[in-house]
Amino acid sequence: MAHEAVIGLECHVQLRTNTKMFCACPVRFGSEPNTNVCPVCLGLPGALPRLNDAAVEYALRLGLALGCRVREVSVFARKNYFYPDMPKNYQITQYDLPLCEGGELPAVIDGVPRTFALTRIHLEEDAGKSFHPERHGDRSLSRVDFNRAGVPLVELVTEPVLRTPAECTAFLTALRRLVRALGISDGDMEKGQLRCDANVSLRPAGAAALGTKTEIKNLNSIKGVEKGVTAEIARQRRLLDGGEAIVQATLLYDADHDKLAIMRTKEHAHDYRYFPDPDLPVLRVEQARVARVRETLPELPWVREARLITGYALPAYDAAVLCETPALADYFEAVARGADAKLASNWIMTEVLRVLNERAWTLERWAARVPAERLHDLFARVGSRELPGPVAKQVFAWMCDEDGAVPELLERHGVRVQGSSDELAPLVEQVIHEHPGPVAQYLAGEAKTLGFLVGQVMKKSGGQAVPQVVQELLRAALAKGGPGA
Ligand SMILES: [Zn+2]
Repeated sequence: MAHEAVIGLECHVQLRTNTKMFCACPVRFGSEPNTNVCPVCLGLPGALPRLNDAAVEYALRLGLALGCRVREVSVFARKNYFYPDMPKNYQITQYDLPLCEGGELPAVIDGVPRTFALTRIHLEEDAGKSFHPERHGDRSLSRVDFNRAGVPLVELVTEPVLRTPAECTAFLTALRRLVRALGISDGDMEKGQLRCDANVSLRPAGAAALGTKTEIKNLNSIKGVEKGVTAEIARQRRLLDGGEAIVQATLLYDADHDKLAIMRTKEHAHDYRYFPDPDLPVLRVEQARVARVRETLPELPWVREARLITGYALPAYDAAVLCETPALADYFEAVARGADAKLASNWIMTEVLRVLNERAWTLERWAARVPAERLHDLFARVGSRELPGPVAKQVFAWMCDEDGAVPELLERHGVRVQGSSDELAPLVEQVIHEHPGPVAQYLAGEAKTLGFLVGQVMKKSGGQAVPQVVQELLRAALAKGGPGA
């Protein structure tokens, strides 16, 4: 029987606030272990949490960008369970009354736009981190770092609307781009700033009821999600094809060895004994605040992408690459305004991104070296055929290492380019009239006489014209039929 997969994602996004969710400890990646801690995030008796309003602001930005409904009153609850890296033995999260509900994330899969419905977005605190060096023969101790305990997270839960691993990748890529554009998270999966659990089930193709699901925990790279989900779909399909039943379970995926391991089977759901946190008041979000946050949202990545496609006549692929970060899209727009947009897009996607990659430069550093106006000027000169492609490439190479506008760079390197097409056209006409013999030979198929004609135009220009431009102009003029045509 043919089965189709049904996938739901639970994504945890670490918010880039200055301080933790319920205390004043700094949120900092890479500090010495257990240096960013205090009685609140260590769960010492008598310490009281106080909500960080910046985390609420960031969650609202995300919720409103995704079109969620915002609850006027939401509630923080205690989720009780024991885990060594969670000193309070409960996690403060939102349960039955989350901050945001509904909404959807647009993403593009194989060039086809789709939207993925969301269930909810809520705020919660992160746990600390356990290290098990004894597994690598380091020493016979596990260690715990509480620097991450209490760092603010949003958890974003999708409806079971994803069908393929590729859709998971598109979803996470779109989410990462969004949180970066909103400035609420760096979304760096390597630093654990974006983590994901995936719920996977199979059902007969076309059936409405959902099959038994399993949950893959703590996937920490987009590739890991795609590979883990692929492996789990294959595992479930093998079992179903062999007439076996799926057992509800929590799985771990080892991306390095492409292996799934069953962590625990769930006979019934965990009882976390949720109850409202008595140390925290309910979270009230007035309509006026919702309206204010909505107004301050930047242009959303998918809106900008659509605008680049229609406004600059760019292919969808180009628009997607350029909208990866707002800074790159800003740079493109500053370069492309009033210039040939496709030319600008090609150069930025190939040349600029290549240099950034080779030199490990940020776009900021690049823009300080080559301001957008300078590149705009270069492309305008290419567009007007004042600079032929090879010369423009050379100028671009100088730009990467030197200051100075295009004319200065040409001067500094002793390149004299005379010659917009308009300036050279009369010279081309003269040469065609003065040399009917070679023109006739060229028209009769002797291509090499073109070189002689180019030389004549170069002579008339005092050697300042660019041969490639002259050659193109001559070819075009002769194609129209030679002298007198
Ligand atoms: Zn603290």
